Amino acid sequence: MTLDNSGGLSRHVTLALTRLTKAYTGMYTQFLLLEIKLDNFQLSPEKDWWTYIWGTPHFSQKAYRHLLGHVDAHPVFKWLWKSSCQNKHKVFFWLLIVDRLSTRNILRRKNMVLPSYDCAICNNGIEETSQHLFFQCPLALTCWNMLQVTPVDSDSFFGTIESIKAQISSHMFMSLIILLCWTIWTARNELIFQGIQPSLGQCRATFKKELALLMHRVKAKHKPQLEEWISSFG
Ligand SMILES: [Zn+2]
Repeated sequence: MTLDNSGGLSRHVTLALTRLTKAYTGMYTQFLLLEIKLDNFQLSPEKDWWTYIWGTPHFSQKAYRHLLGHVDAHPVFKWLWKSSCQNKHKVFFWLLIVDRLSTRNILRRKNMVLPSYDCAICNNGIEETSQHLFFQCPLALTCWNMLQVTPVDSDSFFGTIESIKAQISSHMFMSLIILLCWTIWTARNELIFQGIQPSLGQCRATFKKELALLMHRVKAKHKPQLEEWISSFG
């Protein structure tokens, strides 16, 4: 072994000893802290049990809130999932309010090449966004008029929904909103994929058919009002 190697070896040993000392000091400090805690700990005759830091013995909604943090969602989401519509309608409307429905502006955002990104219903050179298609397009306004509703332009989709809710005096307001949007979406798809020109008469028939199906899903106390709605559509 050369002197240099010996010196190198010595440095390695010194370094290892220093690290060991530090680790030992750290462990010894932890041991002292534990000893202090145990000195102050009072034993009781009660049986030991596990508890969560959120205050209940159950792993519940509160636990998820504690672990994930809690963000208050807009009430529209609650109205949506509590509505009496079929799941396909609920999922459709959820996609609409989170701006994931495949309107043409969304397809453009996904780099899908289309001959046109404009609203096919009014054909006025206006890009087809969900806000336009469901609340601003002339056909949409005519459809909302069936419910004596005028959607108010708002900065947010939720604001528009709230404005419509305020104009419909019914516990079933959310189901009516969802099914009317579904009616407009159906008319739009029939035009684009089957070439069927949309008309108020066709929309009225679609909406009435969906309301009739809703009759099987609403609570008994709401049925008389729903019957009135259906009969008002001729
Ligand atoms: Zn339009």
